[in-house]
Amino acid sequence: MRILITGGAGFIGSHLAEAHLQKGDEVYVIDDLSTGSLENIKDFQENKDYRSRLFFSHDSILNHEKMVELVGICDRVYHLAAAVGVLYVLQHPFESIRTNIQGTEKVLELCSKFKKRVLITSSSEVYGKHLHAPLVETDNIIYGPSSKFRWSYAASKLMDEFMALAYHRTNGLEVIIARLFNTVGPRQTGAYGMVIPRLVGQALKGEPLTVYGDGKQTRTFTYVKDVVDALMGLMASPKATAEVFNVGGTEEISIEALAKKIIAMTGSDSNIVYIPYEVAFEKDFEDMQRRVPDIQKIKDHIGFEPKTDLDGILKSVI
Ligand code: UDP
Repeated sequence: MRILITGGAGFIGSHLAEAHLQKGDEVYVIDDLSTGSLENIKDFQENKDYRSRLFFSHDSILNHEKMVELVGICDRVYHLAAAVGVLYVLQHPFESIRTNIQGTEKVLELCSKFKKRVLITSSSEVYGKHLHAPLVETDNIIYGPSSKFRWSYAASKLMDEFMALAYHRTNGLEVIIARLFNTVGPRQTGAYGMVIPRLVGQALKGEPLTVYGDGKQTRTFTYVKDVVDALMGLMASPKATAEVFNVGGTEEISIEALAKKIIAMTGSDSNIVYIPYEVAFEKDFEDMQRRVPDIQKIKDHIGFEPKTDLDGILKSVI
């Protein structure tokens, strides 16, 4: 089968590309390398079993001609190209909205035109600032005001979901929406936030671990290979069409406890420094205090269950 992965040189995209290459598929990657990197796919480009089946385009998903060519020849499309990381969104506000809205619209328009099944990756950010857990796909959504730029990412991803569902309703597009929660594993960069690679890097270098705010905010973490299994399972499941799924782990941990765990597991002499949000990000920054997915729906649909627990994830990153 021919598989197109937008953002396929990114962290999650490159693992998805690898899994499809392992299956024997032809993999087409389009990536503008804004946060992705050729390093992420270098090993496959050099692998003698993979290199004749991997096709890389260094291009933007906004390039209409290129996207017509790629969507036209591929059987299935995974759309992962997006602005990633809270810090990136704050630093590149206009570009982030443009990629997320216009880029996704381009992908949906062409998948609809060429009748290609497509999986759109959304984000747990879409839920906004809830305090309850776990978050269910049908939950209401609460955002801060438009003056707080963090929420632009959530709003743009939510608009992607609406557009995807509208294409299904009006044109019968076969689309699946996956709301990814915090995903971790090899090849993830800590450059734009991403707490685990950052804190592990700091612990290994003996530097202080930077915990933002009071560290009482919580997250769950999913190993990237579990996420890839989930995405491939959803793509292969006809009854997943036009549905929204949480994809995430269920072990809730505060960032402060995570930092302590990382110090213990690395045997580091590092200590923890608490950095106010306005120093780490900007004045009046609002964080999500709690973020835990309910994964019953994806379990019921494709039997998804994360296989790697937090200790296993941390071991692999360390
Ligand atoms: N965080 C932190 N120190 C860091 C990087 C992140 O305390 O060096 C916090 C961040 O404020 C958030 C959590 O860790 O509460 C997860 O951040 P990440 O950027 O990994 O993902 P997010 O959940 O914000 O999308």
